[in-house]
Amino acid sequence: MAVNFILRTFKRSMLRNYVPAKPRQLHFCSMNLSQCVLLGPVNGTFCNLFCRKICTTAWICTDSDSVSCWKCGVSIDLNKVLFCDYCEVVQKPKYDADYFTIFGIKKKFEIDNRELTKMFRLLQMQLHPDRFTQKSEDEKQISACYSSLLNQAYKTLSSPLERGLYLLEIQGHPLSDEREIIMEPNFLNEVMEINEKIHEVENKNDLERIQKANEITLGKLLREVADEFRNNNWESAREYLAQLKYYSKIQERIKELEQEFEERKIKVTCCIS
Ligand SMILES: [Zn+2]
Repeated sequence: MAVNFILRTFKRSMLRNYVPAKPRQLHFCSMNLSQCVLLGPVNGTFCNLFCRKICTTAWICTDSDSVSCWKCGVSIDLNKVLFCDYCEVVQKPKYDADYFTIFGIKKKFEIDNRELTKMFRLLQMQLHPDRFTQKSEDEKQISACYSSLLNQAYKTLSSPLERGLYLLEIQGHPLSDEREIIMEPNFLNEVMEINEKIHEVENKNDLERIQKANEITLGKLLREVADEFRNNNWESAREYLAQLKYYSKIQERIKELEQEFEERKIKVTCCIS
């Protein structure tokens, strides 16, 4: 109760003082008061403490992840900033930062894709090469490396299959050794039958029917994977992800065939005309 009251009062007083900061720097706000130290106004602005995840703030969070800026040596928290508050140079990604940390999101399978994309675009904007044309070679190089890491992280986290595989890997239960997972003969037969159907498919309508059925299976498997991750059942999550891999490959093949049908249609139309 008392803590809530203090927070409410503090929030009100902060909001009274709040002046929007210019979007110069990105901080990942932990929303944890005990970890934050108010440094006072920076460049005449106060931060919005109560923003979520990203804020253009005057706050610096202090915890064990604090490191020194490679340029000026000021202590910063690489989990929460891209740029040094003091000298404003871009920072190198933390050597052990995982993809979730890069986006400031929790390490879990179920994520908000819109939030992820929003974060990706914001970070991408901050690291855009146009912003570094007047900067030193070091800064250009760091921003380019960071940018490529960001793209890789986004590509991985935005795909449920890749995200699941990555999550298993960083939690110490990689699927890399698939020999450990024994696939049920029924499952393998089912996959084989679908592949045969795809092989024999002659028109787009039949392909669409297979695709719809496959999408239902994919949806079902994704729900199973999410359940297992939610309950920290790594072994079951591995098994469902292994199945998901098969059905994702089927989906890829369907997409390729769809493309082939489209190209064939264009060719026929061209010949007629
Ligand atoms: Zn610095």
